[in-house]
Amino acid sequence: MPKNPVNNDKINRRRLILIVDDEQVNRELLGMIASTEFDILYAANGIEALDIIRKNVYTLSLVILDLMMPEMDGFEVLKTMQSHEEMAHIPVIILTSDKDAEVQSLKLGAADFIIKPFHSPEVILARIERTIELSEDRFIIQTTERENLTGLLTKEYFFRYADQYDRFHPEDSMDAVALDIIHFHMINEMYGRNVGDEILIHFARFLREEIIGNKGLACRLDADRFLLYLPHIEEDYQDFLDRINRAFDVFVDINVRVRCGIYANADKELEIEKQFDRALHAVSTVKDRYDEFYALYDDEAHDKQVFSERLVNGIDEAIANKQFLVYFQPKYDVSGDTPKIISAEALVRWKHPEYGMISPGLFIPLFESNGLIHKLDFYIWEQVAEKMRRWKEEFGAEINVSVNVSRIDLHSPDLEDFLEYIVTINDVDPKRFYLEITESAYTEDGDRVTQKIFNLRDRGFQIEMDDFGTGYSSLNMLADVPVDVLKLDMKFIQHLRSSTKNEILISLIINAAKALGILTVAEGVEEKDQVDFLKGIGCNIIQGYYFSRPLPEQDFLELLKEN
Ligand code: C2E
Ligand code: CA
Ligand code: CA
Repeated sequence: MPKNPVNNDKINRRRLILIVDDEQVNRELLGMIASTEFDILYAANGIEALDIIRKNVYTLSLVILDLMMPEMDGFEVLKTMQSHEEMAHIPVIILTSDKDAEVQSLKLGAADFIIKPFHSPEVILARIERTIELSEDRFIIQTTERENLTGLLTKEYFFRYADQYDRFHPEDSMDAVALDIIHFHMINEMYGRNVGDEILIHFARFLREEIIGNKGLACRLDADRFLLYLPHIEEDYQDFLDRINRAFDVFVDINVRVRCGIYANADKELEIEKQFDRALHAVSTVKDRYDEFYALYDDEAHDKQVFSERLVNGIDEAIANKQFLVYFQPKYDVSGDTPKIISAEALVRWKHPEYGMISPGLFIPLFESNGLIHKLDFYIWEQVAEKMRRWKEEFGAEINVSVNVSRIDLHSPDLEDFLEYIVTINDVDPKRFYLEITESAYTEDGDRVTQKIFNLRDRGFQIEMDDFGTGYSSLNMLADVPVDVLKLDMKFIQHLRSSTKNEILISLIINAAKALGILTVAEGVEEKDQVDFLKGIGCNIIQGYYFSRPLPEQDFLELLKEN
């Protein structure tokens, strides 16, 4: 029979055994014999025994059980153990002075027996060791089928032993390490699966023999991903990784490299799987970096990722539960003596049940990066159109409102139809419905985007170019692209006083826009000086904290009525 390679991975640790006998002298004698090799728990009757077994069900390697005891005898304990799945795997050696009980106990599922009184300590120790070994091998055989290829532990077995190790050695500092072979699928494709397998097998052997030795555990998680649990590495992790990469030196013509995520000094309070989630998270942060091939788990980065995932996964529920609120920030016309509200920008807020009020700067980019943004935006636009209808019905207020249109929304084939639909059913004039499209969208995918915006304009919508001045657009481009309103990026306004060049630039933009029949809006205006300056150069629409922050609908309506 081939030697089971997994045996090499067992941590050289002391197993825990339970000795159950009602006679103290027997417990002490056996304890003395076994304590040279094992950690020992004791019970004086069946009830106590079952209690201890339940509490130590994952760490007990063996139970040595007397048959004749008061309260609850050994037969009863055996039967109970057999009928509970989680206890059934723990092997039992029966203690008996009655030769005839042997057959019965073996039938009940005992693994072996020891005859009282005890004669040879060596024989007893040998029986204990053999029973434990057999049972562990059986466990291995049952659960390692998937690991025929590399002979490394399966993840179930790996986690179980790592967990046991933690329980026995809570004081040892350990590192949870995740490894994966870079572009392994390409290696498979280029050189064939056989070569891929050969690399995996070779790597597994290297890990077992050179990296782990008898000081840790290794497993193959899946495909080309491996986990290691090993004593904390004090040395530089780059050295560690170099050592690991040396495994592939034998494949002269194939460039095989590994990346590595390390959760160092793992927190033992965490479930073992969670410890490795952290190592896996760390390795995932290496993915797109080509200068460094290992990363240490970082609490903050992980929290951030969890936060992002929560937000991304929460979008449907948030829409269903009306957690997204529309705020309105008024835009003022300052051309007359007293500033007057002439329109407003709709800005979304997320009233999150757990995180409180979240600003769009946190979730809009997330939804843009995974394509969910159109869900949110379509919903917001619909809300805005409905509100505009209500304002008109209830207060006779007809006001222009702009909504934000993400550059990603411009890829939605039904964008024009949807917008037309919501204004139509809410009886809103599309001329009052402004679409703020960021300048960078125009330059990103020029012709297609321009065509899309022309379509929107054909349906009667007004187009406002947002954040003008942040991208690469130029003034002469304004002549060719569809745009009704130019919204100067906040940075212009906020750096006004720092340079006269800036002032000149703004007034140039405003004059050029005017010549092209395009209105200009200044946003991010916080101070009176800025208002005066803008007014002076003919920029008459102003949005910013100086006049008002974005407001909840009711507050906005109050302000509107005062106005
Ligand atoms: P944006 O479209 O450039 O909106 C202007 C941002 O500046 C808003 O931030 C607004 O609250 C803020 N702001 C207004 N006046 C001032 C001021 O005087 N000083 C300063 N420092 N800031 C001012 P907010 O509401 O946090 O929105 C951030 C960005 O999120 C928006 O930038 C927009 O790109 C995006 N966004 C907001 N709502 C939506 C939405 O419904 N859909 C999409 N796709 N994006 C949205
Ligand atoms: Ca905007
Ligand atoms: Ca803006």
